Amino acid sequence: MIDGLRAIVGYDYVLGGANSRFASDASRLRARGERARAVVCPGSPAEVASVVSWCYAHDIPMTPRGGGTGLAGGAVAVNGEVVVSMDRLNQVRSFDPLLWRIHVDAGLSTRTLRRVARENGLVFPPDPGAADQSQIGGNIATNAGGPHAFKYGSTGSWVTGLEVVLPPGDLVNLGGPNRKDVASYDLKKLVIGSEGTLGIVTGAWLRLIPAPESSAVVLAFYPSVETGLHAVHRVLGTGEPVAALEYLDEPTLRITKGSFPGPMPDSPGFLVAAELDGSSAEVARMVPEVRQALDEEGASHVTTLQAQSGISALWRWRDGVSGTVSAHHNGKVSADICVPLDMLAAAINQVSEISARHHLAACTWGHAGDGNIHANFLVDLDDTSMVARSELALADLFAVTRGLGGSITGEHGIGWLKRKYLVSHLEPAVYAAHLAIKYAFDPKNLMNPGKKV
Ligand SMILES: Cc1cc2nc3c(=O)[nH]c(=O)nc-3n(C[C@H](O)[C@H](O)[C@H](O)COP(=O)(O)OP(=O)(O)OC[C@H]3O[C@@H](n4cnc5c(N)ncnc54)[C@H](O)[C@@H]3O)c2cc1C
Repeated sequence: MIDGLRAIVGYDYVLGGANSRFASDASRLRARGERARAVVCPGSPAEVASVVSWCYAHDIPMTPRGGGTGLAGGAVAVNGEVVVSMDRLNQVRSFDPLLWRIHVDAGLSTRTLRRVARENGLVFPPDPGAADQSQIGGNIATNAGGPHAFKYGSTGSWVTGLEVVLPPGDLVNLGGPNRKDVASYDLKKLVIGSEGTLGIVTGAWLRLIPAPESSAVVLAFYPSVETGLHAVHRVLGTGEPVAALEYLDEPTLRITKGSFPGPMPDSPGFLVAAELDGSSAEVARMVPEVRQALDEEGASHVTTLQAQSGISALWRWRDGVSGTVSAHHNGKVSADICVPLDMLAAAINQVSEISARHHLAACTWGHAGDGNIHANFLVDLDDTSMVARSELALADLFAVTRGLGGSITGEHGIGWLKRKYLVSHLEPAVYAAHLAIKYAFDPKNLMNPGKKV
């Protein structure tokens, strides 16, 4: 097998399966023993196609891998797959700033994509938190969101075309630079969010928009979850097109207080952050209105950040929250449930109740405007009894989420860790349709088998 793969990509680009860099993702799903058969690093879309073709002909399962920042174990080889790393496909293929579009390799890092756009007065709005390591291909495969998905939508909203290798090794284009195209079934949308189970994305055409001239963030601290969420509703009620509407609860604030870029009250309670963007005049008009909405629910402390340095520092801190919380207990078992907006308070309170029932500490934060909660049960990942309790807590949380009419994942995906929950989340006929789609694309079930469906 190694010889067959080396003949395609070259001797140096087939690594041993035990290579620790590829053994887990950000969920810290640890490889026990040597789970990957090999890691192969193709250098072009044609090489990806040849690798898929070779593996398909030899019945060898594959796991596509981007930056490995996923939180669902989707990019981890759990059953002796060949890991197909996209690290070497990391170039901008073409960039047309005046046409607001860019054509990139799938392995380009999210940060580089955003920087290239920004340096030319444009913006690629999706902003998942691990942008330094995550790749646009991984963002597409998980349909990643982020704080600004509230106003601008998740990654899929910005994709007009994909270059994909489909089993048994066909390099195809689904869409392209056309901003509109309804000629075919929208297979592009099927691949977006498919977590590497239908094919391997090798390139993408993306839409960009002119960067907003100005932005500001209003921060407000509340004594309770309920008052904080009433404030979120008030902000929505202003009708202003808020760019991001985030929250962090008391336990999260306690753990991350040390790195917060500014003063935090002694009893921080519940934090709501609303970002506004647009022309300078629009932002100047919106800030007092949103600030007043936030003030009206008895906030203990309200601040407005206007300087770009302060806003950047806030988002840097926010990006680091997950890592800081993880480090606090030597790990966390987390879910990113999404509930209808009127169910947010119930869902957040349920996380506390469930964690108490299973004798675990917990904290939550999330994209309040989208109803997307990052629920974290804090565990020492080396403590098997704690991890087992957290799994029971997760199962309870997913059952509660279903009862609230929510989704078991709003942005991180199903991957390996949540695979057993999708079947009960979907209606039987809908799950059957998923399986039919999976086997239509991948009749031998070799493309990231066991993940998602
Ligand atoms: C600190 C932190 C903050 C985060 N914040 C957010 C957030 O705000 N919003 C959010 O949505 N996510 C967030 N995430 C999760 C993660 O960053 C995203 O899911 C990201 O899109 C994964 O990209 P990746 O390149 O690292 O993919 P990987 O982890 O490598 O892979 C993820 C999945 O995509 C598949 N895949 C990867 N590349 C390809 C490809 N080229 N073709 C086909 N399939 C592929 C893999 O098989 C796997 O199933 C966060 C993670 C961390 C660690």
